[in-house]
Amino acid sequence: MLPTIVFDEKKCDDPLSCRKCLLICPSHVLGVVTKVGPRKYQEIDRHFFIVAGVRFDRCTGCMECVEICPKGALKVNFPVEAK
Ligand code: SF4
Ligand code: SF4
Repeated sequence: MLPTIVFDEKKCDDPLSCRKCLLICPSHVLGVVTKVGPRKYQEIDRHFFIVAGVRFDRCTGCMECVEICPKGALKVNFPVEAK
């Protein structure tokens, strides 16, 4: 089952300046995307960028991204399998 990656944009309002979670993820699961979509020939304010899971199927649940985040802005949850 695929994990849920929850990002709190109030705690991390400038992921482009930090990027610690993106750099440490051994599986390259995380990416930075914009909340406003592409804007051709327009500069997008830094605060409109957010961290998101872009390759959920590669997540191993190692939690390195959660542990390195200085602002506690990430949570990775795996669904509990029914017995
Ligand atoms: S839990 Fe591990 S594999 Fe999954 S996104 Fe975080 S660092 Fe990457
Ligand atoms: S490590 Fe935390 S503060 Fe840094 S970009 Fe990732 S979510 Fe934001």
